[in-house]
Amino acid sequence: MTNNHFPSVYTADTEQTTAPITRRVLLECTAGLLVASGIAAGSIQSANAAQKYAKADVSYQDYPKDGQSCANCKFWDGAGGCEIVEGEITADAWCAVWVVV
Ligand code: SF4
Repeated sequence: MTNNHFPSVYTADTEQTTAPITRRVLLECTAGLLVASGIAAGSIQSANAAQKYAKADVSYQDYPKDGQSCANCKFWDGAGGCEIVEGEITADAWCAVWVVV
């Protein structure tokens, strides 16, 4: 029997569905959980020192969100870049892994 109310991987009778969790959804959920749980910025930084996220994977946008922007984020380098997100970053932008300075 299939449960169509939730996009879970397994139904109540453990039958596998055909709705895989995408990499993007997994990263967005992970980023949101890290921010919501208040995990130390240093932990995030050390875990991602060698690899940066693509903008699309962290819901990057070119405008601030609720007073949060790259200019007041822990990972802003002050020179158009971010320690954990790839590419050119503007001070007025925002993404889902924003952490207060
Ligand atoms: S808000 Fe996102 S893109 Fe901007 S500095 Fe922080 S981590 Fe980098």
